Amino acid sequence: MDISVVVPLYNEQDSLRELHQWIKRVMGEHHFTYEIIFVNDGSSDKSWSIIEELHQQYPEVKGIKFRRNYGKSPALYCGFKRAEGNVVITMDADLQDSPDEIPELYRMIMEDGYDLVSGYKQKRYDPLSKTLPTKLFNATARRVSGIHNLHDFNCGLKSYRKEVVKNIEVFGEMHRYIPYLAKNAGFSKIGEKVVHHQSRKYGKTKFGGLNRFFNGYLDLITLWFLSTFGVKPMHIFGFLGSLMFILGFFLTLGIGIHKLYALANGIPAVLITESPYFYLSLTLMIIGTQLFVAGFLGELIVRHAPDRNNYNIEKEI
Ligand code: UDP
Ligand code: MG
Repeated sequence: MDISVVVPLYNEQDSLRELHQWIKRVMGEHHFTYEIIFVNDGSSDKSWSIIEELHQQYPEVKGIKFRRNYGKSPALYCGFKRAEGNVVITMDADLQDSPDEIPELYRMIMEDGYDLVSGYKQKRYDPLSKTLPTKLFNATARRVSGIHNLHDFNCGLKSYRKEVVKNIEVFGEMHRYIPYLAKNAGFSKIGEKVVHHQSRKYGKTKFGGLNRFFNGYLDLITLWFLSTFGVKPMHIFGFLGSLMFILGFFLTLGIGIHKLYALANGIPAVLITESPYFYLSLTLMIIGTQLFVAGFLGELIVRHAPDRNNYNIEKEI
């Protein structure tokens, strides 16, 4: 099979038939063998019954139904597990992404050798409250992930080589960082294609509000931490802890020597407990020790983590 189209959806009853017709037309024109996997993320409208109807009429339409709303990442995760095509395309269900982009996205994977191609909504039809924070977010994501050629990490329209989706684990709200996940899994040929974007035709956006930003940044920090220190927590905690402890230790030593020197020479000196350095060194040593212990605990946890030896082997002969 050439292509699996994975479509996560949450209450998108009005767009589904139109989206299916459009994908079908494009696939037919280019003679692709394909499947469409609709992942119904706990919709409370008629989305699922429409998917069932489509499935009866067209066997290439498949569906996964969540019992409740889990989020876009879990929906993608389950869609990826089921996908069988050599190239996997993800797109939103709201008709904002155009299926006309599929052939080129497919070609870039198969012929240009990309592992992942992300859509880039250069001209976006979303309100400013959405586009402006997105710019900021992408700039940070570029820096942290080291994938400098991507403008639009969170674009719903992407294509993947099959191995990529089988080797990454999209969880929580990490769908925003799939290119970063792919890079961490060893798929480094990541490209971009400018895609058409339209304003939402039916329904309304599921990702509004400010907290998505805050959470987005926290997720980015988590990913960065996991990819740099995930299996060697002692390298950060131990380092910071030792540094603080040593600093505190020498500070204490200095205070002690100073006091002794003053005593021996009969110079009047302040009480040790009245020196601000005393409290500074105390704090440094205590926090230093705690960080060190945190590192040890981290190592113990990693040692027992089920995926500690989860290496991504490309080939074995
Ligand atoms: N979606 C989902 N589960 C959710 C929220 C959204 O499957 O909990 C789907 C949604 O139906 C759509 C896609 O994710 O197909 C992108 O959502 P939306 O269009 O609301 O995001 P936006 O384009 O506004 O960023
Ligand atoms: Mg949308």
